[in-house]
Amino acid sequence: QCAAACPTGAITIFNEIGRGWRALHDPKKRVVFQIAPAVRVAVGEAFGLEPGVNAINKLVSALKMMGADEVYDTTFGADLTVMEEADEFLERLKKGGPFPMFTSCCPAWVKYVEEERPHFLKNISTCKSPMEMFAAVLKDQYARKDEEDGRTTYHIAIMPCTAKKMEAKRPEFQHDGKPDVDLVLTTQEIIMMIKESGIRFAELEGESPDLPFGMGTGAATIFGTTGGVAEAVARRVVEDKSKNTLQAIQFSGIRGSETIRAVTLPVGDRALRIAVVHGLVNAQKLLDDIESGQEYFDLVEVMTCKTGCVGGAGQPYGLIPVKQQRAEGLYEADRTALIKRSERNPIVTKLLEGAMKGRTHQLLHVEYKRPDKA
Ligand code: SF4
Repeated sequence: QCAAACPTGAITIFNEIGRGWRALHDPKKRVVFQIAPAVRVAVGEAFGLEPGVNAINKLVSALKMMGADEVYDTTFGADLTVMEEADEFLERLKKGGPFPMFTSCCPAWVKYVEEERPHFLKNISTCKSPMEMFAAVLKDQYARKDEEDGRTTYHIAIMPCTAKKMEAKRPEFQHDGKPDVDLVLTTQEIIMMIKESGIRFAELEGESPDLPFGMGTGAATIFGTTGGVAEAVARRVVEDKSKNTLQAIQFSGIRGSETIRAVTLPVGDRALRIAVVHGLVNAQKLLDDIESGQEYFDLVEVMTCKTGCVGGAGQPYGLIPVKQQRAEGLYEADRTALIKRSERNPIVTKLLEGAMKGRTHQLLHVEYKRPDKA
């Protein structure tokens, strides 16, 4: 771990690329990466590519050149999240609440609720974030592999987010004293490592992420921008799965840049009220309105960063138009994706119906508690 300090000493930014390099050079470790959706549309900016260009395949090639054993895609974890979050939401509809159900992908949002509004903790989905779902499945599935070849799987997540470093260290995500995610590197940190390697990123030939966990759907890819999680869950819960319905969701107002967006979607005989909010100050306002009874929602997506993860603190610096170009890059990836809905991800359904059957609660869910404040 090394620190880069600003000249006045007011800000110190730590980076952990040293830990990344040590793992990559350790023959006893199998280094396995996952790459978050928002990273792919921003990493290329440091190498002259336009914001929004999907550079995941170049990133896979670069990581392999740097010594990665396997490189996967967090969209696999996001598809799992959609499946579990949609089931939880439908279960709450049957039981009558508690509503609204808040999304749980953003660790800074979860932390805010724990610290400042703990009475809302019961409203937060029990689903782990895509990063932690991915990691739990990976460590579970690779335990035997580790025993067989005597290496230890060391899991690195490349995230657009500095709060993910905190999430990975939470006690809820440690097992036998070891974290499911061993190291979180931000987009900026991975850019530094690529530069240190002397790799000419823009000229690389792309390589697809590895299988089986390198496969994700369009629904999972849009997790990286504001409204993406809510849209992906809506695709899963609506009964009519036609192309027209997918388009109706897309044009319902769920996408966009307004800080608080409210949409109504029909599900069975109910009209679901869904809100999407980005920026903590806007989330605080929405909570106030919900608390005072001025607003009612069944499902609320909250992302602490403005524009969602494409604008995360671990991304290269960019103004709002740059972040919007990144979001457009994710929507383009969804448009061209072979599979658009999470329940159609064959690896996810195979796992849920096979190796993970009866263990989803243990592997994919978490309960956040602050008994001292609740
Ligand atoms: Fe991290 Fe920001 Fe995304 Fe939340 S919205 S997960 S803080 S990048």
